[in-house]
Amino acid sequence: MSLAVTVLGSSGMFATTERAAAGYLLEIDGRRIWLDAGPGTWRNLLRLTDYKDLDGVILTHVHPDHTTDIFGCYHALAYGGPEPLPAIPLWAPAQVLERLCAYAGQVDIAFDLRPVAAGGTFSVGRAQVMLFEMAHPVETVGVRIDCNGSTFAYTADSGIEGDLLPLTKGAGLLMSEATLQQCDGPVFEGHMSAAQAAGVAREADVNRLVLTHLPPGRDLGVSLAEARAAAPDVHTTLAADGERYEI
Ligand SMILES: [Zn+2]
Ligand SMILES: [Zn+2]
Repeated sequence: MSLAVTVLGSSGMFATTERAAAGYLLEIDGRRIWLDAGPGTWRNLLRLTDYKDLDGVILTHVHPDHTTDIFGCYHALAYGGPEPLPAIPLWAPAQVLERLCAYAGQVDIAFDLRPVAAGGTFSVGRAQVMLFEMAHPVETVGVRIDCNGSTFAYTADSGIEGDLLPLTKGAGLLMSEATLQQCDGPVFEGHMSAAQAAGVAREADVNRLVLTHLPPGRDLGVSLAEARAAAPDVHTTLAADGERYEI
């Protein structure tokens, strides 16, 4: 049983020429799961895998920088051949599923819509997926995956008040949002600075931290330096599109 994650997009809030918005390809016990579908991630996903081999999708919240590329996948699965392909599971908060259906009424041709909420769990193969409540202006779930003793944790978008410790405790790799830098001050609710993300990792005994949802147009060396200063013992790097991590 193996667990790996490839970054499909690491830009916060919108895609840039260098980075797609939020998205990841998970390899869980031989299955391929697309986690968040921000702008640009569909094309990056196709560079790595045939969409026909996707086994499911997880969307953490309704914000466009995490969801809008799902419609590329919808059209491919529903209309890419003479017959629609079998629907694959799409796990997301109910609000996300309602909005997707409002935008594209037949999205359930492609996806088996499965509403989830914080506190919920589901299985992917022999792995267990657990969801935690994040602190963000809309309902948002953090995602923890336990697979044969290996653990991956993803904050999605969250302020420091989210349920971060149970989400991340002892994870082999934490993919944490780091939208802010210290100079931003406390003006943006529902996001963390790189230093706060590093503090979470330290508190949760996580040794490998990858900073993502990075602020467009900023010197990201500042984010990395602030995180490393906050938690010198945590191995911290910046996410980059295409980077693959085994856990
Ligand atoms: Zn976001
Ligand atoms: Zn968001």
